[in-house]
Amino acid sequence: MPNDLTPPSDAFAKSAHIDAETYEKMYAASVADPEAFWAEHGQRVDWIKPFTVVRSTSFAPGNIDIKWFEDGTLNVAANCIDRHLATRADQTAIIWEPDDPNDAAKHITYAELHRETCKMANILEDMGVRKGDRVVIYLPMIPEAAYAMLACARIGAIHSIVFAGFSPDALGARINGCDAKVLITADYAPRGGRQTPLKSNADAALLNVLHDCKVLVVRRTGGQITWMEGRDHDYAELRLEADDHTPAAEMAAEDPLFILYTSGSTGQPKGVVHTTGGYLVYASMTHAYTFDYHDGDIFWCTADVGWVTGHSYIVYGPLANGATTLMFEGVPTYPDAGRFWAVCEKHKVNQFYTAPTAIRALMGQGDEFVTKYDLSDLKLLGSVGEPINPEAWNWYNTVVGGGRCPIVDTWWQTETGGHLITPLPGAIATKPGSATKPFFGVQPVVLDAHSGTEITSTEAEGVLCLKDSWPGQMRTVWGDHERFEKTYFSDYKGYYFSGDGCRRDADGYYWITGRVDDVINVSGHRMGTAEVESALVAHAKVAEAAVVGYPHQIKGQGIYAYVTLMNGVEPSDDLRKELESWVRTEIGPIAKPDLIQWAPGLPKTRSGKIMRRILRKIAENDYGALGDTSTLADPSVVDNLIENRANKG
Ligand code: ATP
Ligand code: MG
Repeated sequence: MPNDLTPPSDAFAKSAHIDAETYEKMYAASVADPEAFWAEHGQRVDWIKPFTVVRSTSFAPGNIDIKWFEDGTLNVAANCIDRHLATRADQTAIIWEPDDPNDAAKHITYAELHRETCKMANILEDMGVRKGDRVVIYLPMIPEAAYAMLACARIGAIHSIVFAGFSPDALGARINGCDAKVLITADYAPRGGRQTPLKSNADAALLNVLHDCKVLVVRRTGGQITWMEGRDHDYAELRLEADDHTPAAEMAAEDPLFILYTSGSTGQPKGVVHTTGGYLVYASMTHAYTFDYHDGDIFWCTADVGWVTGHSYIVYGPLANGATTLMFEGVPTYPDAGRFWAVCEKHKVNQFYTAPTAIRALMGQGDEFVTKYDLSDLKLLGSVGEPINPEAWNWYNTVVGGGRCPIVDTWWQTETGGHLITPLPGAIATKPGSATKPFFGVQPVVLDAHSGTEITSTEAEGVLCLKDSWPGQMRTVWGDHERFEKTYFSDYKGYYFSGDGCRRDADGYYWITGRVDDVINVSGHRMGTAEVESALVAHAKVAEAAVVGYPHQIKGQGIYAYVTLMNGVEPSDDLRKELESWVRTEIGPIAKPDLIQWAPGLPKTRSGKIMRRILRKIAENDYGALGDTSTLADPSVVDNLIENRANKG
């Protein structure tokens, strides 16, 4: 893997919140005396009743118990809106960019955000929602999604957002899973020029919901929908009469703020529970420092609010910091592959945060789509969701960032609430493909996968765990604390187990090597998937690659590579041989793929992550047991791969 260090420019480092020296000092303090550190940084949010206990956290078997700031009280919506009104009432809180570039964007001020959130909160109260009740949100990326989240927070209801691309089955399961009192949805969700019929999906989902669940319907397109009197409520109509001064409820720090299901890359999604105080402190602090956000900057995270990235870095983190956050309804390739950069130019975006899947897709479309736009306002670029292949990192850095913008490769999970391992851009020199160093208070450890013992040498390779709690940590799995303990605390006792593998290099930098379940063991050599995939992607004719192990008579496991070629490149036996020897020279003979299958598309979650567990089943010839595929973006990809499996028979 490339090891070249890219330090921040002098100009960037000078104006950054955190420089190298400050990082070292603050990090050391954060692990030497976490109580004192978080007592201080807990003050970045406004408390109604200040906390006196910083934390009580236990990773002990049989007693997994995580509490932060537990005797403090606060309200998240008041922190994200009301406390800014004195100084920022007329500042834009949310810039909304619609799916169709010919439609008008919206600029929503903090005063407007306050009004709309209060109205939505009042509507929910009138529909019978009380503190602690659950509300499922199934909306397009429209401002009402943010109003709905903040309205729940305002009255102390717990929201559970379901991505608008999910099927009625997935939606129904999530409504039942938390006994939701209200479902907030829209008529249709425009995306990439097409429309998903959200209301009719919701109607279908509710056929399988036996408890009483009311529906609040936002009219996004005005298209035709069916209506069930008594159950369905019209948002536009109720909004006219709703009170625009709904009081913010006093919540305990450990009251749940939201439930959110993980992406389902590795199995059945888990209902992750985040609470009020610690989550907000952590989301806002990581937003400010990782992105080096300064007052007046325009911040754009391209995720959907249906993912944790959208919770922490479109809504809660930025708004708690009084930022201007951009919310985009569309997709990167509509009307063409230049949309991201058109939006960056149009709204003068300063920090841009997206996923490797988008970067890889856009990289294959040609640089003209980027270079025709003025991206001079960009100061920083971010990546999240999967390991970013060095090839994609370099393209992002030079073509998008003009070599001027630090890249923050942020490693974290739905479970962690916010970034755990990431460069702080003014402090830490980056290496393409490495998430670099831990955030304040985060203590990563590398364990030997078999013995479970901590590898204390600087250079290490193994399983990535966390030694101690941080305020943004999830508290439980909704309704199933046992599953929480079993999933995260039972394989390696006394640690939080991330499920990811990693390597720590001689400089103490962390490299995520992929999921532990995906590690391939070739003739006794353990290999992460990321390294082989990155080597393949580095070849000029390869757009994307996914690598899994399959049973091999001699080696134990062989390497099976699914390869998507660049637009216009034809597969051939010569190219297959070329790729084999390419990987052999890039990494070594041990990493040479045994089988290569040409894959027009790869199975991905709706959030764009490659689902290797399905690819492994196909490679193993075990189609009967594909597991939970409900979060798959395009199931037809799987049929195609099964049909064209590399070593049939
Ligand atoms: P499930 O837990 O249901 O299998 P998931 O793990 O994909 O789904 P998320 O919480 O959305 O659900 O994703 C977190 C995972 O994404 C991490 O554990 C890691 O594998 C991967 N990931 C996120 N950011 C990075 C990054 N910067 N580098 C490498 N991997 C990353
Ligand atoms: Mg996971």
